Amino acid sequence: MLKIDIEKCTGCKICEKTCPFGAITVTDKIAKVQENCTLCGACVSSCPAGAITIERRQIPKEELDKFSGIFIWGECEEKGRDLVPKKVVKELLNQGRRLADRLKQNLAVVVLGNGKVDGLQELLNYGADRVIRCRNKLLDNYTTDGFSNVLCTVISKERPSIFLFGATPRGRELAPRIAARLHLGLTADCTGLDIDEEDQLVQTRPAFGGNIMASIISPYTRPQMATVRPNVFPCEKYDKTKNAEIEDFEVVLSQTSIRTNTVDIKQLTGQREISIEEADIIISAGKGCEKKENLKLIKELADELGGVVAGSRAIVELDWIPHTRQVGQSGHTVGPELYIAVGISGAVQHIVGMSSAKTIIAINKDPNAPIFKVADLGIVGDAMEILPVLIKGLKSSP
Ligand SMILES: Cc1cc2nc3c(=O)[nH]c(=O)nc-3n(C[C@H](O)[C@H](O)[C@H](O)COP(=O)(O)OP(=O)(O)OC[C@H]3O[C@@H](n4cnc5c(N)ncnc54)[C@H](O)[C@@H]3O)c2cc1C
Ligand code: SF4
Ligand code: SF4
Repeated sequence: MLKIDIEKCTGCKICEKTCPFGAITVTDKIAKVQENCTLCGACVSSCPAGAITIERRQIPKEELDKFSGIFIWGECEEKGRDLVPKKVVKELLNQGRRLADRLKQNLAVVVLGNGKVDGLQELLNYGADRVIRCRNKLLDNYTTDGFSNVLCTVISKERPSIFLFGATPRGRELAPRIAARLHLGLTADCTGLDIDEEDQLVQTRPAFGGNIMASIISPYTRPQMATVRPNVFPCEKYDKTKNAEIEDFEVVLSQTSIRTNTVDIKQLTGQREISIEEADIIISAGKGCEKKENLKLIKELADELGGVVAGSRAIVELDWIPHTRQVGQSGHTVGPELYIAVGISGAVQHIVGMSSAKTIIAINKDPNAPIFKVADLGIVGDAMEILPVLIKGLKSSP
Protein backbone atom coordinates (compact mmCIF):
# COMPACT_ATOMS: atom_id res chain seq x y z
CA MET A 1 0.00 0.00 0.00
CA LEU A 2 1.32 3.47 -0.92
CA LYS A 3 1.21 6.11 1.83
CA ILE A 4 1.69 9.86 1.54
CA ASP A 5 2.67 11.83 4.64
CA ILE A 6 0.70 15.06 4.11
CA GLU A 7 2.73 16.79 6.83
CA LYS A 8 5.87 16.31 4.72
CA CYS A 9 4.37 16.82 1.23
CA THR A 10 5.26 20.25 -0.24
CA GLY A 11 3.10 19.86 -3.36
CA CYS A 12 6.13 20.06 -5.68
CA LYS A 13 4.50 17.68 -8.23
CA ILE A 14 7.73 15.76 -8.92
CA CYS A 15 5.94 12.48 -8.13
CA GLU A 16 3.17 13.34 -10.63
CA LYS A 17 5.75 13.71 -13.41
CA THR A 18 7.63 10.58 -12.33
CA CYS A 19 4.72 8.15 -12.15
CA PRO A 20 4.66 6.10 -15.39
CA PHE A 21 1.00 5.19 -14.82
CA GLY A 22 -0.50 8.62 -14.04
CA ALA A 23 -1.48 7.15 -10.68
CA ILE A 24 -0.50 10.06 -8.45
CA THR A 25 -1.95 13.55 -8.74
CA VAL A 26 -1.32 16.71 -6.77
CA THR A 27 -4.28 18.91 -5.95
CA ASP A 28 -4.31 21.76 -3.42
CA LYS A 29 -0.59 21.11 -2.87
CA ILE A 30 -1.23 17.59 -1.59
CA ALA A 31 -0.33 14.42 -3.50
CA LYS A 32 -3.05 11.80 -3.77
CA VAL A 33 -2.67 8.25 -5.01
CA GLN A 34 -5.23 6.70 -7.36
CA GLU A 35 -6.53 3.16 -7.62
CA ASN A 36 -4.37 2.29 -10.64
CA CYS A 37 -1.14 2.53 -8.60
CA THR A 38 0.91 -0.61 -9.29
CA LEU A 39 3.27 -0.06 -6.31
CA CYS A 40 6.17 0.15 -8.80
CA GLY A 41 8.02 2.43 -6.36
CA ALA A 42 9.22 5.00 -8.91
CA CYS A 43 7.71 7.93 -7.01
CA VAL A 44 9.18 6.92 -3.64
CA SER A 45 12.78 7.68 -4.50
CA SER A 46 11.83 10.75 -6.56
CA CYS A 47 10.13 12.59 -3.68
CA PRO A 48 12.61 15.19 -2.31
CA ALA A 49 10.62 15.47 0.94
CA GLY A 50 10.61 11.74 1.70
CA ALA A 51 6.82 11.93 1.94
CA ILE A 52 6.03 8.70 0.08
CA THR A 53 6.41 5.22 1.48
CA ILE A 54 5.22 1.81 0.36
CA GLU A 55 4.14 -0.72 2.93
CA ARG A 56 4.35 -4.24 1.59
CA ARG A 57 2.74 -7.15 3.34
CA GLN A 58 5.67 -9.09 4.65
CA ILE A 59 5.36 -12.70 5.66
CA PRO A 60 7.72 -13.52 8.55
CA LYS A 61 10.69 -15.73 7.62
CA GLU A 62 9.46 -18.57 9.88
CA GLU A 63 6.22 -18.57 7.86
CA LEU A 64 8.11 -18.54 4.50
CA ASP A 65 10.28 -21.44 5.67
CA LYS A 66 7.18 -23.62 6.03
CA PHE A 67 6.86 -23.68 2.22
CA SER A 68 8.84 -26.59 0.83
CA GLY A 69 9.30 -28.38 -2.48
CA ILE A 70 10.08 -27.39 -6.03
CA PHE A 71 7.09 -27.80 -8.32
CA ILE A 72 7.04 -27.80 -12.11
CA TRP A 73 4.01 -27.53 -14.34
CA GLY A 74 4.09 -30.66 -16.51
CA GLU A 75 2.74 -29.08 -19.69
CA CYS A 76 1.72 -31.69 -22.26
CA GLU A 77 1.41 -31.71 -26.02
CA GLU A 78 -0.08 -34.02 -28.59
CA LYS A 79 2.32 -36.50 -30.21
CA GLY A 80 0.33 -38.49 -32.74
CA ARG A 81 -2.62 -39.76 -30.74
CA ASP A 82 -0.88 -39.44 -27.40
CA LEU A 83 -0.57 -36.59 -24.94
CA VAL A 84 2.99 -36.41 -23.57
CA PRO A 85 4.98 -33.94 -21.42
CA LYS A 86 6.77 -31.28 -23.49
CA LYS A 87 10.57 -31.22 -23.78
CA VAL A 88 10.71 -28.05 -21.67
CA VAL A 89 9.31 -30.04 -18.71
CA LYS A 90 12.36 -32.32 -18.86
CA GLU A 91 14.65 -29.30 -19.10
CA LEU A 92 13.01 -27.82 -16.00
CA LEU A 93 13.34 -31.14 -14.19
CA ASN A 94 17.05 -31.13 -14.92
CA GLN A 95 17.45 -27.67 -13.45
CA GLY A 96 14.86 -28.30 -10.72
CA ARG A 97 16.82 -31.36 -9.56
CA ARG A 98 19.90 -29.22 -9.03
CA LEU A 99 17.92 -26.66 -7.01
CA ALA A 100 16.10 -29.34 -5.01
CA ASP A 101 19.36 -31.06 -4.05
CA ARG A 102 20.82 -27.75 -2.99
CA LEU A 103 17.76 -26.95 -0.83
CA LYS A 104 17.31 -30.58 0.27
CA GLN A 105 13.69 -30.46 -0.84
CA ASN A 106 11.52 -32.66 -3.04
CA LEU A 107 11.05 -32.10 -6.76
CA ALA A 108 7.50 -32.57 -8.03
CA VAL A 109 5.87 -32.28 -11.43
CA VAL A 110 2.15 -31.52 -11.68
CA VAL A 111 0.34 -32.87 -14.73
CA LEU A 112 -3.21 -31.84 -15.59
CA GLY A 113 -5.46 -33.64 -18.04
CA ASN A 114 -8.23 -36.13 -18.49
CA GLY A 115 -6.00 -39.01 -17.40
CA LYS A 116 -4.78 -40.07 -20.83
CA VAL A 117 -1.29 -38.58 -20.50
CA ASP A 118 1.57 -40.93 -21.41
CA GLY A 119 5.20 -40.78 -20.26
CA LEU A 120 4.53 -39.88 -16.60
CA GLN A 121 6.78 -42.65 -15.28
CA GLU A 122 9.57 -41.27 -17.47
CA LEU A 123 9.40 -37.95 -15.58
CA LEU A 124 10.73 -39.78 -12.54
CA ASN A 125 13.74 -40.88 -14.60
CA TYR A 126 14.31 -37.25 -15.49
CA GLY A 127 14.71 -36.33 -11.83
CA ALA A 128 11.23 -35.90 -10.29
CA ASP A 129 10.62 -37.31 -6.79
CA ARG A 130 6.87 -36.98 -7.19
CA VAL A 131 4.47 -36.93 -10.12
CA ILE A 132 1.16 -35.37 -9.13
CA ARG A 133 -1.66 -36.12 -11.55
CA CYS A 134 -4.79 -33.95 -11.62
CA ARG A 135 -7.51 -35.72 -13.58
CA ASN A 136 -10.88 -34.36 -14.60
CA LYS A 137 -12.88 -34.46 -17.80
CA LEU A 138 -13.01 -30.64 -17.73
CA LEU A 139 -9.22 -30.71 -18.14
CA ASP A 140 -9.54 -32.64 -21.41
CA ASN A 141 -8.79 -29.48 -23.40
CA TYR A 142 -6.59 -26.68 -22.10
CA THR A 143 -8.49 -23.69 -20.71
CA THR A 144 -6.84 -20.89 -18.76
CA ASP A 145 -9.66 -20.87 -16.20
CA GLY A 146 -9.68 -24.62 -15.61
CA PHE A 147 -5.91 -25.03 -15.42
CA SER A 148 -5.30 -21.96 -13.26
CA ASN A 149 -8.10 -22.97 -10.84
CA VAL A 150 -6.57 -26.40 -10.36
CA LEU A 151 -2.98 -25.17 -10.06
CA CYS A 152 -4.05 -22.55 -7.47
CA THR A 153 -5.63 -25.35 -5.43
CA VAL A 154 -2.49 -27.49 -5.74
CA ILE A 155 -0.34 -24.56 -4.55
CA SER A 156 -2.65 -23.74 -1.63
CA LYS A 157 -2.70 -27.35 -0.46
CA GLU A 158 0.91 -28.38 -1.14
CA ARG A 159 2.59 -25.03 -0.28
CA PRO A 160 5.71 -25.42 -2.47
CA SER A 161 8.59 -22.96 -2.09
CA ILE A 162 9.21 -22.68 -5.85
CA PHE A 163 6.88 -23.14 -8.84
CA LEU A 164 8.34 -23.19 -12.37
CA PHE A 165 6.61 -22.99 -15.74
CA GLY A 166 8.05 -23.29 -19.24
CA ALA A 167 7.90 -19.88 -20.96
CA THR A 168 5.67 -21.36 -23.66
CA PRO A 169 2.57 -19.51 -24.86
CA ARG A 170 0.48 -21.39 -22.27
CA GLY A 171 3.05 -21.10 -19.49
CA ARG A 172 3.29 -17.38 -20.14
CA GLU A 173 -0.47 -17.14 -19.86
CA LEU A 174 -1.02 -19.34 -16.80
CA ALA A 175 1.82 -18.23 -14.53
CA PRO A 176 0.86 -14.52 -14.33
CA ARG A 177 -2.79 -15.40 -13.77
CA ILE A 178 -1.89 -17.66 -10.85
CA ALA A 179 0.62 -15.15 -9.48
CA ALA A 180 -1.97 -12.36 -9.58
CA ARG A 181 -4.62 -14.49 -7.96
CA LEU A 182 -2.38 -15.66 -5.11
CA HIS A 183 -0.59 -12.27 -4.79
CA LEU A 184 2.80 -13.76 -5.65
CA GLY A 185 5.89 -12.36 -7.35
CA LEU A 186 6.72 -13.72 -10.80
CA THR A 187 9.79 -13.43 -13.00
CA ALA A 188 9.04 -14.03 -16.67
CA ASP A 189 11.32 -15.53 -19.32
CA CYS A 190 14.21 -16.57 -17.08
CA THR A 191 17.40 -17.88 -18.65
CA GLY A 192 19.11 -18.85 -15.38
CA LEU A 193 18.08 -20.12 -11.93
CA ASP A 194 20.16 -20.44 -8.79
CA ILE A 195 19.89 -20.46 -5.00
CA ASP A 196 21.52 -17.73 -2.88
CA GLU A 197 23.04 -18.03 0.59
CA GLU A 198 19.61 -17.34 2.15
CA ASP A 199 18.07 -20.22 0.19
CA GLN A 200 16.13 -17.83 -2.07
CA LEU A 201 15.60 -18.51 -5.76
CA VAL A 202 17.75 -16.18 -7.89
CA GLN A 203 15.99 -15.71 -11.21
CA THR A 204 18.13 -14.37 -14.05
CA ARG A 205 16.70 -12.81 -17.19
CA PRO A 206 17.79 -10.32 -19.84
CA ALA A 207 16.67 -6.76 -19.14
CA PHE A 208 16.90 -3.35 -20.83
CA GLY A 209 16.75 -4.72 -24.36
CA GLY A 210 19.06 -7.62 -23.51
CA ASN A 211 21.95 -5.34 -22.59
CA ILE A 212 22.13 -6.48 -18.96
CA MET A 213 21.25 -9.68 -17.13
CA ALA A 214 19.03 -8.94 -14.11
CA SER A 215 19.08 -11.20 -11.03
CA ILE A 216 15.69 -11.10 -9.35
CA ILE A 217 14.52 -12.53 -6.00
CA SER A 218 11.03 -12.78 -4.49
CA PRO A 219 11.78 -12.24 -0.79
CA TYR A 220 8.22 -11.65 0.44
CA THR A 221 6.05 -14.33 -1.14
CA ARG A 222 5.95 -18.10 -1.59
CA PRO A 223 6.04 -19.98 -3.85
CA GLN A 224 8.66 -18.08 -5.82
CA MET A 225 7.31 -18.22 -9.36
CA ALA A 226 9.18 -18.10 -12.65
CA THR A 227 8.64 -18.92 -16.29
CA VAL A 228 11.78 -20.32 -17.92
CA ARG A 229 12.64 -20.16 -21.60
CA PRO A 230 12.67 -23.49 -23.44
CA ASN A 231 16.02 -24.69 -24.78
CA VAL A 232 18.21 -22.91 -22.24
CA PHE A 233 18.79 -25.97 -20.04
CA PRO A 234 19.72 -29.44 -21.26
CA CYS A 235 17.41 -32.35 -20.45
CA GLU A 236 19.41 -35.24 -19.07
CA LYS A 237 18.17 -38.58 -17.90
CA TYR A 238 19.13 -39.16 -14.33
CA ASP A 239 18.13 -42.52 -13.01
CA LYS A 240 16.45 -45.13 -15.16
CA THR A 241 15.69 -47.33 -12.18
CA LYS A 242 13.96 -44.63 -10.15
CA ASN A 243 10.45 -45.59 -9.23
CA ALA A 244 7.60 -43.98 -7.34
CA GLU A 245 3.84 -44.03 -7.32
CA ILE A 246 2.02 -41.51 -9.48
CA GLU A 247 -0.06 -39.52 -6.95
CA ASP A 248 -3.62 -38.50 -7.76
CA PHE A 249 -4.68 -35.07 -6.58
CA GLU A 250 -8.38 -34.68 -5.96
CA VAL A 251 -9.73 -32.13 -8.41
CA VAL A 252 -12.93 -30.22 -7.76
CA LEU A 253 -13.85 -28.22 -10.85
CA SER A 254 -17.21 -26.97 -12.07
CA GLN A 255 -18.17 -26.16 -15.64
CA THR A 256 -19.40 -22.72 -14.52
CA SER A 257 -15.88 -21.74 -13.40
CA ILE A 258 -14.62 -22.15 -16.99
CA ARG A 259 -15.65 -19.23 -19.17
CA THR A 260 -14.40 -20.57 -22.49
CA ASN A 261 -15.40 -23.58 -24.53
CA THR A 262 -13.32 -25.28 -27.23
CA VAL A 263 -15.59 -25.72 -30.22
CA ASP A 264 -13.08 -27.06 -32.73
CA ILE A 265 -9.31 -27.32 -33.22
CA LYS A 266 -7.89 -26.64 -36.69
CA GLN A 267 -4.31 -26.77 -37.92
CA LEU A 268 -3.20 -23.48 -39.51
CA THR A 269 -1.66 -25.25 -42.48
CA GLY A 270 -2.40 -28.71 -43.87
CA GLN A 271 0.73 -30.38 -42.49
CA ARG A 272 1.97 -29.41 -39.04
CA GLU A 273 5.39 -27.77 -39.49
CA ILE A 274 8.05 -28.53 -36.89
CA SER A 275 8.33 -25.53 -34.62
CA ILE A 276 11.75 -23.87 -34.51
CA GLU A 277 11.93 -24.67 -30.77
CA GLU A 278 11.79 -28.38 -31.53
CA ALA A 279 13.99 -28.40 -34.66
CA ASP A 280 17.40 -30.08 -34.68
CA ILE A 281 18.67 -28.11 -37.68
CA ILE A 282 17.84 -24.44 -38.28
CA ILE A 283 18.86 -22.27 -41.22
CA SER A 284 18.28 -18.73 -40.06
CA ALA A 285 18.13 -15.75 -42.38
CA GLY A 286 18.91 -12.12 -41.64
CA LYS A 287 18.61 -8.83 -43.42
CA GLY A 288 21.87 -9.68 -45.20
CA CYS A 289 19.83 -12.01 -47.42
CA GLU A 290 18.88 -8.74 -49.16
CA LYS A 291 15.40 -9.60 -50.48
CA LYS A 292 12.53 -11.96 -49.72
CA GLU A 293 13.01 -13.93 -52.97
CA ASN A 294 16.49 -14.96 -51.76
CA LEU A 295 14.88 -16.96 -48.96
CA LYS A 296 14.35 -19.63 -51.66
CA LEU A 297 18.03 -20.48 -51.16
CA ILE A 298 17.59 -20.68 -47.38
CA LYS A 299 14.63 -23.04 -47.84
CA GLU A 300 16.57 -25.13 -50.35
CA LEU A 301 19.49 -25.50 -47.92
CA ALA A 302 17.07 -26.36 -45.10
CA ASP A 303 15.44 -29.05 -47.26
CA GLU A 304 18.82 -30.53 -48.19
CA LEU A 305 19.84 -30.73 -44.51
CA GLY A 306 16.42 -31.78 -43.20
CA GLY A 307 16.09 -28.56 -41.23
CA VAL A 308 13.67 -25.65 -40.86
CA VAL A 309 13.80 -21.97 -41.78
CA ALA A 310 13.96 -19.25 -39.13
CA GLY A 311 15.21 -15.67 -39.04
CA SER A 312 16.05 -12.47 -37.22
CA ARG A 313 13.55 -9.89 -36.08
CA ALA A 314 14.68 -7.60 -38.89
CA ILE A 315 13.22 -9.93 -41.51
CA VAL A 316 10.08 -10.59 -39.46
CA GLU A 317 9.52 -6.83 -39.48
CA LEU A 318 10.02 -6.87 -43.26
CA ASP A 319 7.30 -9.55 -43.40
CA TRP A 320 9.63 -12.09 -45.04
CA ILE A 321 8.80 -14.76 -42.41
CA PRO A 322 6.11 -14.98 -39.69
CA HIS A 323 6.83 -14.12 -36.05
CA THR A 324 6.50 -17.82 -35.15
CA ARG A 325 9.88 -18.26 -36.91
CA GLN A 326 11.70 -15.40 -35.15
CA VAL A 327 14.74 -16.33 -33.06
CA GLY A 328 15.74 -14.10 -30.17
CA GLN A 329 14.71 -12.19 -27.13
CA SER A 330 11.31 -11.15 -28.43
CA GLY A 331 10.94 -14.34 -30.47
CA HIS A 332 11.84 -17.93 -29.62
CA THR A 333 14.80 -19.48 -27.86
CA VAL A 334 16.12 -22.40 -29.88
CA GLY A 335 18.59 -25.15 -29.05
CA PRO A 336 19.25 -27.17 -32.23
CA GLU A 337 22.19 -29.41 -33.00
CA LEU A 338 23.10 -27.11 -35.91
CA TYR A 339 22.27 -23.40 -36.41
CA ILE A 340 23.36 -21.72 -39.63
CA ALA A 341 23.07 -17.92 -39.44
CA VAL A 342 23.00 -16.39 -42.91
CA GLY A 343 23.42 -12.60 -43.18
CA ILE A 344 22.68 -12.07 -39.47
CA SER A 345 24.78 -9.46 -37.68
CA GLY A 346 24.56 -11.10 -34.23
CA ALA A 347 22.85 -8.43 -32.12
CA VAL A 348 22.67 -9.36 -28.43
CA GLN A 349 18.88 -9.77 -28.70
CA HIS A 350 19.41 -12.40 -31.42
CA ILE A 351 22.31 -14.20 -29.70
CA VAL A 352 20.29 -14.66 -26.50
CA GLY A 353 17.87 -16.85 -28.47
CA MET A 354 20.34 -19.17 -30.21
CA SER A 355 23.61 -19.33 -28.30
CA SER A 356 22.75 -22.71 -26.74
CA ALA A 357 22.80 -24.36 -30.22
CA LYS A 358 25.38 -27.18 -30.25
CA THR A 359 27.13 -26.04 -33.46
CA ILE A 360 26.82 -22.55 -34.93
CA ILE A 361 27.91 -21.69 -38.46
CA ALA A 362 27.76 -18.04 -39.54
CA ILE A 363 27.91 -16.65 -43.07
CA ASN A 364 28.48 -12.90 -43.20
CA LYS A 365 30.35 -10.58 -45.54
CA ASP A 366 31.58 -8.44 -42.63
CA PRO A 367 34.55 -10.18 -40.93
CA ASN A 368 33.90 -8.11 -37.79
CA ALA A 369 30.23 -9.06 -37.46
CA PRO A 370 29.49 -9.98 -33.78
CA ILE A 371 27.88 -13.27 -34.87
CA PHE A 372 31.39 -14.66 -35.44
CA LYS A 373 32.08 -14.34 -31.68
CA VAL A 374 29.58 -17.13 -30.95
CA ALA A 375 30.13 -19.14 -34.15
CA ASP A 376 32.04 -22.44 -34.20
CA LEU A 377 32.68 -21.94 -37.90
CA GLY A 378 32.60 -18.62 -39.73
CA ILE A 379 32.42 -18.10 -43.48
CA VAL A 380 33.26 -14.56 -44.60
CA GLY A 381 31.70 -13.68 -47.92
CA ASP A 382 28.56 -12.92 -49.89
CA ALA A 383 25.86 -15.34 -48.73
CA MET A 384 24.16 -15.22 -52.12
CA GLU A 385 27.32 -16.64 -53.70
CA ILE A 386 28.09 -19.10 -50.89
CA LEU A 387 24.62 -20.66 -50.52
CA PRO A 388 24.37 -22.00 -54.12
CA VAL A 389 27.82 -23.60 -53.73
CA LEU A 390 26.78 -25.26 -50.46
CA ILE A 391 23.50 -26.49 -51.92
CA LYS A 392 25.23 -27.83 -55.04
CA GLY A 393 27.81 -29.63 -52.87
CA LEU A 394 25.10 -31.22 -50.73
CA LYS A 395 23.09 -32.28 -53.79
CA SER A 396 26.07 -33.96 -55.37
CA SER A 397 27.20 -35.71 -52.18
CA PRO A 398 26.11 -39.35 -51.90
C1 LIG B 1 13.81 -5.00 -27.26
C2 LIG B 1 14.39 -5.61 -28.49
C3 LIG B 1 14.11 -6.92 -28.79
C4 LIG B 1 14.67 -7.50 -29.93
N1 LIG B 1 14.40 -8.82 -30.18
C5 LIG B 1 15.01 -9.41 -31.22
C6 LIG B 1 14.82 -10.80 -31.48
O1 LIG B 1 14.07 -11.50 -30.80
N2 LIG B 1 15.47 -11.34 -32.53
C7 LIG B 1 16.31 -10.61 -33.35
O2 LIG B 1 16.88 -11.19 -34.30
N3 LIG B 1 16.49 -9.30 -33.14
C8 LIG B 1 15.84 -8.69 -32.10
N4 LIG B 1 16.02 -7.36 -31.95
C9 LIG B 1 16.67 -6.57 -33.02
C10 LIG B 1 18.17 -6.66 -32.98
O3 LIG B 1 18.68 -5.65 -32.13
C11 LIG B 1 18.75 -6.47 -34.40
O4 LIG B 1 18.30 -5.25 -34.91
C12 LIG B 1 18.39 -7.57 -35.36
O5 LIG B 1 18.70 -8.84 -34.82
C13 LIG B 1 19.18 -7.37 -36.67
O6 LIG B 1 18.80 -8.33 -37.60
P1 LIG B 1 19.82 -8.77 -38.76
O7 LIG B 1 21.07 -9.29 -38.15
O8 LIG B 1 19.04 -9.67 -39.65
O9 LIG B 1 20.06 -7.43 -39.57
P2 LIG B 1 21.31 -6.43 -39.59
O10 LIG B 1 21.70 -6.00 -38.22
O11 LIG B 1 20.95 -5.37 -40.58
O12 LIG B 1 22.51 -7.30 -40.14
C14 LIG B 1 22.63 -7.76 -41.44
C15 LIG B 1 23.95 -8.49 -41.53
O13 LIG B 1 24.05 -9.08 -42.81
C16 LIG B 1 25.37 -8.89 -43.30
N5 LIG B 1 25.26 -8.91 -44.76
C17 LIG B 1 24.75 -7.96 -45.59
N6 LIG B 1 24.73 -8.39 -46.87
C18 LIG B 1 25.26 -9.63 -46.85
C19 LIG B 1 25.52 -10.61 -47.84
N7 LIG B 1 25.21 -10.39 -49.12
N8 LIG B 1 26.08 -11.77 -47.46
C20 LIG B 1 26.40 -12.03 -46.18
N9 LIG B 1 26.17 -11.14 -45.19
C21 LIG B 1 25.60 -9.98 -45.51
C22 LIG B 1 25.84 -7.58 -42.74
O14 LIG B 1 27.24 -7.56 -42.66
C23 LIG B 1 25.18 -7.59 -41.36
O15 LIG B 1 26.04 -8.17 -40.39
C24 LIG B 1 15.47 -6.75 -30.81
C25 LIG B 1 15.74 -5.41 -30.51
C26 LIG B 1 15.20 -4.86 -29.37
C27 LIG B 1 15.51 -3.42 -29.07
S1 SF4 C 1 7.16 14.55 -4.80
FE1 SF4 C 1 6.77 14.33 -2.61
S2 SF4 C 1 6.64 16.42 -1.86
FE2 SF4 C 1 6.44 16.53 -4.09
S3 SF4 C 1 4.20 16.46 -4.41
FE3 SF4 C 1 4.93 14.38 -4.55
S4 SF4 C 1 4.66 13.58 -2.45
FE4 SF4 C 1 4.55 15.78 -2.32
S1 SF4 D 1 4.19 3.58 -6.85
FE1 SF4 D 1 4.46 3.71 -9.09
S2 SF4 D 1 2.37 3.55 -9.90
FE2 SF4 D 1 2.16 4.03 -7.70
S3 SF4 D 1 1.99 6.24 -7.66
FE3 SF4 D 1 4.16 5.76 -7.35
S4 SF4 D 1 5.07 5.84 -9.42
FE4 SF4 D 1 2.83 5.75 -9.67
